[in-house]
Amino acid sequence: MTDSECLFCKIAAGKINADVIYESDDVVAFRDINPQAPTHVLVIPKRHISTINDLKKSDSGIVGEMYIAAKEIARQEDIADDGYRAVMNCNAAAGQTVFHIHLHVLGGRQLTWPPG
Ligand code: AMP
Ligand code: ZN
Repeated sequence: MTDSECLFCKIAAGKINADVIYESDDVVAFRDINPQAPTHVLVIPKRHISTINDLKKSDSGIVGEMYIAAKEIARQEDIADDGYRAVMNCNAAAGQTVFHIHLHVLGGRQLTWPPG
């Protein structure tokens, strides 16, 4: 898939609407269209990366930024102290359906472990 066909590249470029709640130079975060918890936000890099498997050493900064964004979002959403989960799915066995990496930030209810 080219970047121009990628759903999350289109959201990052503002070509498809999303409920954006956080943005920096390199990442953007928006509410999941099918939320699995009272807070369910996706943090994505603006630059296309398909899966965790495609990460290079030089991408360590962007992954760090995604977690800094998750921390800021948790504070904004008032779930930081109670607790939340920040996870990425990789490929089919983990249920990845959009092949542009995204950090799920989930909170606002008691989350179970292990996940399904
Ligand atoms: P994953 O299964 O880890 O690839 O997660 C993809 C997530 O993207 C799912 O939770 C979907 O509900 C969400 N999603 C798909 N399309 C959109 C969209 N247009 N806006 C917001 N979230 C979306
Ligand atoms: Zn993309």
